[in-house]
Amino acid sequence: MERLKNLFIALFGNQLPLRERFFNIASLGGAAGTVLATLASGISIKRVSAAQGVGFWEFGAPGMIACFTTIVFFLLTFAIYHISKNLKFSIILCLVGLNFVLFPALHLTVGGISSGMPIYFVMGIIFTVLMLDTRPMIIMCTLEAIWYGLLFFLTSRYAEELNDTYFLMPEWAMYLDQAMDFFTVAISTSVLVKILSLCFEWQQNRTNELLKQLEELSVKDPLSGAYNRRFLLKYIESGIEKHKETGAPLSIIMFDIDKFKRVNDDYGHLVGDDVIKGFAQVLLSSCRNYDVVARYGGEEFLLVMPGASEETAYARAEQIRTKVEASSFSDEIDRPVTVSGGVAGFVTSYRNVEEFIAAADEHLYTAKETGRNKIIWKGSEDKGES
Ligand code: GH3
Ligand code: MG
Ligand code: MG
Repeated sequence: MERLKNLFIALFGNQLPLRERFFNIASLGGAAGTVLATLASGISIKRVSAAQGVGFWEFGAPGMIACFTTIVFFLLTFAIYHISKNLKFSIILCLVGLNFVLFPALHLTVGGISSGMPIYFVMGIIFTVLMLDTRPMIIMCTLEAIWYGLLFFLTSRYAEELNDTYFLMPEWAMYLDQAMDFFTVAISTSVLVKILSLCFEWQQNRTNELLKQLEELSVKDPLSGAYNRRFLLKYIESGIEKHKETGAPLSIIMFDIDKFKRVNDDYGHLVGDDVIKGFAQVLLSSCRNYDVVARYGGEEFLLVMPGASEETAYARAEQIRTKVEASSFSDEIDRPVTVSGGVAGFVTSYRNVEEFIAAADEHLYTAKETGRNKIIWKGSEDKGES
């Protein structure tokens, strides 16, 4: 079962280019479809020959031979491609064989226009349209149209001679034959179209997935999972726009891990990386829907809080600070890791994003200068904290 599944994937799976997949579907599907058609015509030939009082082969030999030839033809095209590995050549071979030799031969031997064979020509033309690039497709389709036109002319001009076997059929058998031809072609064409649309859908889902991953990669920092600086600046800019339009407050907090060089020096860079990741997790878990956490520099992070006043931002920063102090980011570190932070709220006197961030940075600097493991905001001065 597993091997069958692997074989199926190897022949029709997503990893193959669409045209190659389609070639496999068309050649193997053609063979399988013809096996079914052979069985169906076998039954109808059996009934007709019995009704006519003639032997099965005596009546049905041309039809049966035609069916077997078709099966062999499809399997042969499949084999030629997989031996030669030349897809273009195999496609041309398949189309020429199908449209210029096999279908016309069937047309002339099994009863011409009245046998419903022209319905199969439609399949030949669909294959051509699907398997070739525009220019060769136009050339091939034109040649096919001329060739089929000629066949129609021949079959109507020499109807008596060509349709001998066919006219031996009673009327009900003719209807049955036409109906079967119609359903065979209709089912195989719909299956082909369905498979193609599924292939397209798979491909599109895969592309969308990759696009999403790419978008994520282009805005996120791989180590911490926080947004990168590029995204941060754009996000703050859009927050400023909104502030100007609606007056909604916009606050930012800039954090920096205290004495982080010492963490690296004492425990190594890998442990340092774990601390950065752990701190980012604390920040991300403290976010509301519209908040954004971004890595601003090495171990500096910015939390953007649209809609939050400076006071609210300060309270959140304090929560984060105490949470970090109580967390252990690595088993190897035997002293608490702490962070300092600076809060700023947007006011229209800031001319751009840089000035806004600089205001938070200035408060962060004060926090560092005055002992670290603390948050500074404009209210701190009133309380004499700085
Ligand atoms: P302060 O309390 O004044 O902030 O002291 P500090 O030692 O943290 O000083 P500073 O902020 O200047 O140091 C930042 C250090 O962070 C320097 C750099 O080696 C380290 N660093 C930057 N990016 C990474 C990183 O991705 N991984 C690791 N492990 N270390 C980093
Ligand atoms: Mg630091
Ligand atoms: Mg720093």
